[in-house]
Amino acid sequence: MHIDILTLFPEMFEGVLQNSIMKRAREQQAFSYDYINFRDYTTSKHNKVDDYPYGGGAGLVLSPQPIFDSIEAIQEKAEKQPRVVLLCPQGEPYNQQKAEELSEEDHLVFICGHYEGYDERIRQELVTDEISIGDYVLTGGELGAMVVIDSVVRLLPGVLGNEQSAPMDSFSNGLLEHPHYTRPADFRGMKVPDVLLSGNHAKIDEWRHKESLKRTFERRPDLLEKKELSDKEKTWLDEWEK
Ligand code: SAM
Repeated sequence: MHIDILTLFPEMFEGVLQNSIMKRAREQQAFSYDYINFRDYTTSKHNKVDDYPYGGGAGLVLSPQPIFDSIEAIQEKAEKQPRVVLLCPQGEPYNQQKAEELSEEDHLVFICGHYEGYDERIRQELVTDEISIGDYVLTGGELGAMVVIDSVVRLLPGVLGNEQSAPMDSFSNGLLEHPHYTRPADFRGMKVPDVLLSGNHAKIDEWRHKESLKRTFERRPDLLEKKELSDKEKTWLDEWEK
């Protein structure tokens, strides 16, 4: 996968992309990335990338020209047209299903906004996906792009080693993940559930499945409304509801 990041602040990404699993993924060539500082594309005499909003009001709006020219330069070089993702608090709420969908692509482009936001024509003409990472407002799209990139890249083949596995993660099967324990079996009198020490893998799987459902029931019942439940799961839920 190749990722192009349109940003005025490329250095913000280095801490995330140059450490831990992201760093290793790049070294293993699971993905590559380029920063495109769209200020480099402005034709404005004073290097401006924004302007006052028509109709008045506070704040500055990102101008269409530098972003159109940056995206067109990417599109001209690309064999296949990339998905162009606009980070935006008004976009579709981001989730694991969307991360899985984006991880199937060969080429992604992220546009990171700033100030009051973007000229509407950027949205209308250039963008294939608008993503919000939550119902709050950030100062810029960089943190949002980092969240999306991290969650997509970790799903690429070979990126996660044995220490982590994506299919078991929360949301991957519509549930929150079960609790984890590691050594010691007794820490300050707090004991690991016996079943996890039993060596009986069928029982351990059933315990994990039940705990995963219970955790989702307690913390995120909204997820259960979207999930098809087995008879066994329905029986457990009935018990807890009572
Ligand atoms: N005036 C805009 C509005 O009310 O919708 C908010 C602009 S915000 C201050 C500046 C930029 O931060 C946005 O253009 C977007 O790129 C990014 N941003 C802010 N909140 C975000 C969120 N929840 N998800 C993704 N990007 C966000």
